[in-house]
This record gives sequence, C-alpha cells and structure tokens, in this order.
Amino acid sequence: MSLSWKLGRIAGIDVFLHPTFLLLLLLPGVAERLPLLLATFGCVLLHELGHALAARRFGIGTSDITLYPIGGVARLTRMPRAPGVELLIALAGPAVNLAIAVGLYPLARGGGEFLADLLAVNLVLALFNLIPAFPMDGGRVLRALLGGWIGRARATSFAAAVGRTLAVGFGVYSLLSWQPFQAALAAFIYLAAGAEEAGVLADERRRSGAARGVDWSAPAGYRWIQTHPGVWRLAPKASARDSSWSGAR
Ligand SMILES: [Zn+2]
Repeated sequence: MSLSWKLGRIAGIDVFLHPTFLLLLLLPGVAERLPLLLATFGCVLLHELGHALAARRFGIGTSDITLYPIGGVARLTRMPRAPGVELLIALAGPAVNLAIAVGLYPLARGGGEFLADLLAVNLVLALFNLIPAFPMDGGRVLRALLGGWIGRARATSFAAAVGRTLAVGFGVYSLLSWQPFQAALAAFIYLAAGAEEAGVLADERRRSGAARGVDWSAPAGYRWIQTHPGVWRLAPKASARDSSWSGAR
C-alpha cells in the first residue's frame, strides 16, 4: 500500500488513492468534467464500503479500500466460504449504487445535467458490476449460486471460465474501439479470475486433504512450498544448496 496515497479513514477502514488514478485526467474530455469524475469515485467508494460493511456483519474485516482508475477494491481479510454470505456481500456493492440512483431520481428530474449524469453513472456501476465476469461482483454472485449445488471448487472454476471468456470478448472489443482503460480492465479481470481460481482450488484441495485425514504436517527439516498455483511440494528447510535442489526439480 506504500505506493498509494491515504485519503482518510471511514468506518475504521483506511481509504487509499492509487497514483495511476491521475492518468484518468489525461483522457480527452475528462479534465473538463472533473466534478463528475470526483462524484463518480465518491460513488465507487460508497460501493466498496457497501461490500466492507456487509462483510463486517458476518465478522469479516476489511484491510483497506483502494481506488484505482478502473474502479475500487475492498480487500477483505478473508473470503467468505458460505455461499449465502458471499452472495449478500457481493450484492451489497451494486445495491448501494442502485440506492443512490433511486435517491437521485427525483432530484435529477427537477433539472440539472450533473445529477442526471450521476444517476446514469450509478446505474452503469450497478449493472456493469453485476456482469457475471468473475471476480467481479456478478461473477461472485454466480459462484455463490452454483456453490451450494456443485461445490465451491467447481463453482469457482466455472465462474472463472465465464469471467475469462467475457474478459477476452470485452478486451478485444475495447481494443478495436480504442478504449485503453476498458482494455486494461479486461486484462485485469482475465488475470484476477485465474489468480483467484488457483488460490481457491489450492485452498479446497488442502481442506479436502485434511478432511480425508491426509497429514499436512511437514516432517522434521522439511516444509511445504507452493511451486505453482495450487501445486505444493515438500522442500528441505533453509540452506542455499537445498533450495537450489528443490528449484531444479
Ligand atoms: Zn463491487
């Protein structure tokens, strides 16, 4: 987090702004619409607080919230395993944007392009995040809905495959229509889907191993290392010679 600037602390959660956020100001037409940009990111922050406060209700903390040019990220201290809990936490963010849009509706009708634009922004934020492109909110909803039925590992793999497929389509479309930020978002979704899938599969494998009575305690002088996402092997502890041995295998 050292790269990011701390904006403040809300509900006990540190809020950071990533320096790449300033790149947004270089996009044509954005600098003139600075108030709308700032209001949009205020709404993104409220969206992330929606996730964080929903998670808190289930005893899950949030390390921090960081605003990036392509959106916000609330880092939960752990991911919920119960599908119902994941569903509610995932829906809490888009629900905040829908609530803002509903609240703005009577004001925007009374005139003012700014409020009408902000209403539209919140509708887009709610609907865009509900696209089932795991690990976006809609993808988490999909994973949660499938998880109670086919299990967490298979639900994650399915949601990640859907997420990667949508990310490739979205990325190609963004490149063809020369939308560099959207292309960066697509690349982020593609990579994040794979990374989170690998983490979940490793976690589930370890849990099922533990449930079958597999002994995950390492023998004396050895420790478990992760050589690839989801691939664990025993490696000798310490000494440079030993670690080069394990690296060569
Ligand atoms: Zn969200």
